Parts: sequence; C-alpha cells; structure tokens
Amino acid sequence: MDIRKWFKNTVSPSSFTPINDSADPIQQDNDSPVNICDSVAGVAANIAASQTRTCNVSSSSTTFGPDPRHPPTPQGPPEDLGDEKPNQVKLDKYPSRLYNGKKRSFVSTWYHGRDWLEYSVNTDSAFCFPCRKFRSATAYVDSVFTTKGYCNWKHANESNKGFHKHATSKEHLTCFAAWRERGKRTETDTEISKLINTEQLSRNRYYVSALIDILEFLATNQLPLRGKLDAFDSMSEGGSGLFLSLFEYTLRKDQQLVKVVKTIPRNATYTSHEIQNELLEAMSSVVTDAIVRDIGSQWFTIKVDGTRDITGCENISIVIRFISEDSCKVTERLLTMATAEAGDAGILTDTILQELQKAGLSSAKILSQCYDGASLMSGKHGGVQKLLQDRLGREIPYIHCFNHQLHLVVVHALSAEEAIGDFFNVCGMLYNFLRNPTVSTHYKGDTLKRLLDQRWTGHLATVSVILKNLEDIIAVLSALGPLDQK
Ligand SMILES: [Zn+2]
Repeated sequence: MDIRKWFKNTVSPSSFTPINDSADPIQQDNDSPVNICDSVAGVAANIAASQTRTCNVSSSSTTFGPDPRHPPTPQGPPEDLGDEKPNQVKLDKYPSRLYNGKKRSFVSTWYHGRDWLEYSVNTDSAFCFPCRKFRSATAYVDSVFTTKGYCNWKHANESNKGFHKHATSKEHLTCFAAWRERGKRTETDTEISKLINTEQLSRNRYYVSALIDILEFLATNQLPLRGKLDAFDSMSEGGSGLFLSLFEYTLRKDQQLVKVVKTIPRNATYTSHEIQNELLEAMSSVVTDAIVRDIGSQWFTIKVDGTRDITGCENISIVIRFISEDSCKVTERLLTMATAEAGDAGILTDTILQELQKAGLSSAKILSQCYDGASLMSGKHGGVQKLLQDRLGREIPYIHCFNHQLHLVVVHALSAEEAIGDFFNVCGMLYNFLRNPTVSTHYKGDTLKRLLDQRWTGHLATVSVILKNLEDIIAVLSALGPLDQK
C-alpha cells in the first residue's frame, strides 16, 4: 500500500482547520475536521509555549488530553455527564435497585472525598470523570467507569470493591494525575500568555510546524530519520541523518525560519530523537482518530495477521473493513501494528480487544473476523476466532481469508506438477548448500532466500537471487566439483 497516498486521502488538505491562538488544540471539537499538521503543531506549540517558561518538556503534555480519540458513540457514556467537571448531581431520592430482596440506591454522601465521581440520572449509574476524559491513547481503562456505568450499589462503598477498588487502580491514578495537571495548566495559562507575547508564540509555532513538515515527509515516504550524529549543531555535517539534513536544507530555503531559529534557546531545539518520537506518536493519534471517525457507529470486520520479527516478538496488524459513511464504499484501514507478549491464541485475542478499545472502537460492533487458516487463528476449539467469540459471548462468524486461500491453491496446484516440484527442490538444496560455512567462503554472490510454503513471495525472491547470481553459483559449484574428486 502506498502510505503517502493513503495518508493524503485520509487527511485531505481541504479539511485544514486553522488553530485558534487562544484555543488549546487538544480541546478541539471531535467532530470538526482535523489536519494532521495543524493538530500536531497545535499540541507541539502548546508544549513550546510552556517550554519557553519552564524549558522542561514533559511527555505527558502530549499524551493526555480531554479524550480526543474517544468521540461519544451510541455505546458511549450517557449524555448527562459533566463536560468540564464531574456531574455530581444531588437528588432528594435516587432510584432503587433490588439486591437479594433489599432495595439499594446511590447515596450523595459518596461524593465526599471523591471529587472524581459522577452520577448519571439518565442511566442511574456512576462514572469516573478523569478516566472518562483523560484516558491516554495507549492505556487500558476499566470500561465500567468510562462507558458502561457502575451501579452495583450494594458493594459500591465497600473497601477493595466498587469505588475504592477503582480509585486505587493504576489506570485511575494516571488519569486522575492528568486531570490535576490539566487543572494546573488552565490556572497558569494566563500567566504563560503574559510571559510569552503573541509574536514569540507565533515564532514557536512556525518553528515546530517546520519540524512537523519534515517528519511528515520522512514518515510518509518511509525514510529513516536518524544518522550517526543527532546534535542540532552538527546538522550540516555528514552522517547527521535525514531529519537534521532536511532541517538544514529547509533553513537554506526559508529565511523566516532562520530568523526564528536565532530566537530559539539551544536547550529547546526540539530535534532530539525523543521529541521526534513524541511528534510521530501525536501524528499517529491524529490518523487513528480520523479512521475511527470514518468508521463511526458502523459494524466492521476485523482482519488480523501476524509475524515474528528478528527479536522473536509477535507483531500483529489489525485491519478494519467497513462501509465508509462518506463514500458508501467498502473500505479497509490499517488500524494499528501491535506487539503481543506471546504468540498464543489467548494473548493474541486479548491484544486484539485491547487495541480496539485503545483506538476507541467498540467490540460490540464486530460483525465478522477474517484470518489465515493456521490453527492458532482458525482453531474451532482454541483458536483466536473461538476465543474472541467466547470473550464477547456471542457468535461472530470466522472467514478464512480469501488471499490466504488463493495462496494455498497456488502452492498445491504447482506442487502437483512434478517438474516444478523438482525445480523448487533444487532451489531448496542450493539454499542449504550455499549456507554451509565451508562453501559460503567461496561463494561471492548474494545470499539465497529460504523457501517457505506459507509465503509464496519467498519463492519469487529465491528465484530472483538465483537468476541474478547464476554465474557465481555455477562458479562455486564448478570450483568445489564432485565430492569424490576433492
Ligand atoms: Zn477513574
């Protein structure tokens, strides 16, 4: 897939939304169109604004925000919850629910010491404001307090249960801290705006936007960022990598940027690899949000395939297939590439569900599932397809991926022809022969690829290498000659 085309199509330039200087970019309306550059520049400029004062970047500034990636969905929390602060509604009488014949209801004194707690009259259930609003893009958060609502009034106030259990969870504490930090930032915003004049603010934004443009170019062209040197002052030297080289090139073309650079303190150049990664992560969130918005409340199919990398980690790609509301066409989007802790079906199933939740998609909307035929995925009793149905407690049809089926047809059809079978046997023998340590010292050509039945493209790669290095292969075979002559 051409990532650049997809990137451009997904986030079209016509949907640019200029940043309002006074508005915090991560507070943008979820429904408004978002341009990746503007959005990320907004987030980054916001860091830049505080940077001028504190000269200390906190990664949390970019990852937390009021829930930009979780737009309200039909499965989301009820509408009568607080938007700016927790909805601690006090009623004379709360509705009752029966527990073992006893009536129980919400009690307003439960708000005491729990400024995070909120109550929805519409659904007679409790929620957590910071977890609902400040869950980070990548963390798991208990959906009971964020979307479903808690209503087990019998155990609500008991220690190690209900509210207490939630309030002491790591996820809640993280969201709570983000909420507090947000409050502090809002309080000091006026102070910051006094310290930084509008001119400085726009200079900072111009500077960070230039960095984001460079990152966008490199990322969409799948180019590496870093070289041997990554210091700001060594950008004009050889080995400084594409990111710094492009920045240096931009400086040659953009006189305004040169003026801005002169005002940027050397301890806030925003060119370190940590900042590069943070900006890329922010850009990635914007893309995921665009995909999730496009899916909306539609039913979708999940397509998952995995492979192990050289470090032994199981990497899985999760693709969502759905009907786009905009174009009314069947659309497929790569939602994420995730790493599973291990390659067993249970962990893969959990990883898939967690990734969907992280992206803000409801597992209740999975219509069908499509994987390859490996028993790990397709197994009737212990495969991912069965475990996913068990976890969600409903029937979700599994479809054996047509591309994988076609691949099997090709493999079987070709191996039925004896000559082709022999040919690939020879290729396999050559691969093993040339890997032999003694032989490989004599062989000067490129390394042959191993033939794998499950990857037919590997056969093409093998044949291509043999064709390209045929002379070297013949040379080594002739030099070594038959074993009995040596
Ligand atoms: Zn919470």
